[in-house]
Amino acid sequence: MRKTKIVATLGPSTSSQEMLARMIEAGVDVIRFNFSHGSAEHYTQAAKSIREISNARQCSVGILCDLQGPKIRIGQFEHGSIKLDKGDQFILDAKCQLGNQARVGLDYKSLPKEVQPGVVLLLDDGRITMLVDQVKASEIYCTVITGGLLSNNKGINKQGGGLAAESLTDKDREDIKTAVAIGADFLAISFPRSAADIHLARQLLIQAGGHAHIVAKIERAEAIEMLEEIIEASDVVMVARGDLGVEVGDALVPSLQKRIIKLARAKNKVTITATQMLESMINSAIPTRAEVSDVANAVLDGTDAVMLSAETASGQYPLEAIAAMDRVCIEAENEQALQMMPTADARRFTKIDESIAMAASYVAEHLPVKAVVALSQSGASVLWLSRSNITAPIYALSPSSETRRRLKLYRGVHTLALNKESVDMRESSVIAEEVLLKKGVLTQGDLILMMSCEHFGKAGNTNTLKAKFIGKE
Ligand code: PGA
Ligand code: MN
Repeated sequence: MRKTKIVATLGPSTSSQEMLARMIEAGVDVIRFNFSHGSAEHYTQAAKSIREISNARQCSVGILCDLQGPKIRIGQFEHGSIKLDKGDQFILDAKCQLGNQARVGLDYKSLPKEVQPGVVLLLDDGRITMLVDQVKASEIYCTVITGGLLSNNKGINKQGGGLAAESLTDKDREDIKTAVAIGADFLAISFPRSAADIHLARQLLIQAGGHAHIVAKIERAEAIEMLEEIIEASDVVMVARGDLGVEVGDALVPSLQKRIIKLARAKNKVTITATQMLESMINSAIPTRAEVSDVANAVLDGTDAVMLSAETASGQYPLEAIAAMDRVCIEAENEQALQMMPTADARRFTKIDESIAMAASYVAEHLPVKAVVALSQSGASVLWLSRSNITAPIYALSPSSETRRRLKLYRGVHTLALNKESVDMRESSVIAEEVLLKKGVLTQGDLILMMSCEHFGKAGNTNTLKAKFIGKE
């Protein structure tokens, strides 16, 4: 069973009911709605379909709504795309409605005020680059340095970073309401510069009545300087290698990835490694060896989840890409027992539920346990447990479908529904064993560790660890 989680982005290649069902069947844990594309109606419908499919299959699938942020994007073209060649003259025009071979619109109307002749602009994650020659009112006149196919709504970055754009745009503020209406499990904030951006997003989310976990996308040069506080302010951190690589230079990305994952784990946060993981699979049924290595190395770095973007959104082989990730993750996990975290005795902990989780991971290193089972209301104890070095599978049983969906991102955690509830610990443990046996994940006589609490029902109350053989007292 795979421990590392797969996040797949929804798009034209995967939006049909049938493709959604096949993605879920293929093992996608979290589906990402990229709010840079698509309408609120479209995503509302997709969310409904995902919930229907996962309910019918009795599994949990998380929904991650990814805000566009101040990602500066070009507008649309008359014919969807154009081809630019080196040396071509091209105008980025804040006032242009529909683009053509000579010019295209901009969603960030202040860009002409923030660039000067000599600035290099990178489009579509740096695939296309152009040099700014002059700026006239709303128009930025450029010469193409690196050409290629340029299609609707592609992003623009300024080399070296440093654009003034606010982290939460008016569109993002509207989209937070959409995310809440959809029942998003995760809300991703694009281009945060500091913890304040994350706090503001959380405040807006709560005001709108949402409970989603906040994902901070690390993709700005400025965010690297504020890494610790941004990680502390968020629940999940995404290594957003596309924009990050454009802003800081591609060569820095691998070491930053390692640093971000390590720091996030140490702070008990969850990580997603994203962008171009299996990029060639947009047009090819098999990945390159380099891509396979990249996915495997992210697993070895200790990431909780790996993400597919265009591979599943607009690629020709979305299911093959998911299958490739699945097999590469499993192999990488088999290869090496990870030493991502200090062992329980080296760790400092102060909370009772955290201590119980650490005790479980310590015992699991010594007894031949088949699994650690956590009865959890809020998922807090499961987070602690999944941050440890534990190799045994973790089964998280929760009566809350919301909690189960959030746990879908945690590495090494398998979620199961607890449909019957009891406040009595002995009774809940019997119910839990019934679920595990019925699902066929464990058999009579298997040695397990069970984490629970005396009065099940309250969040963060785990206070008991029990080693037992399934079916025996
Ligand atoms: P995006 O974010 O796909 O929304 O741009 C991820 C990244 O920049 O890597
Ligand atoms: Mn990005």
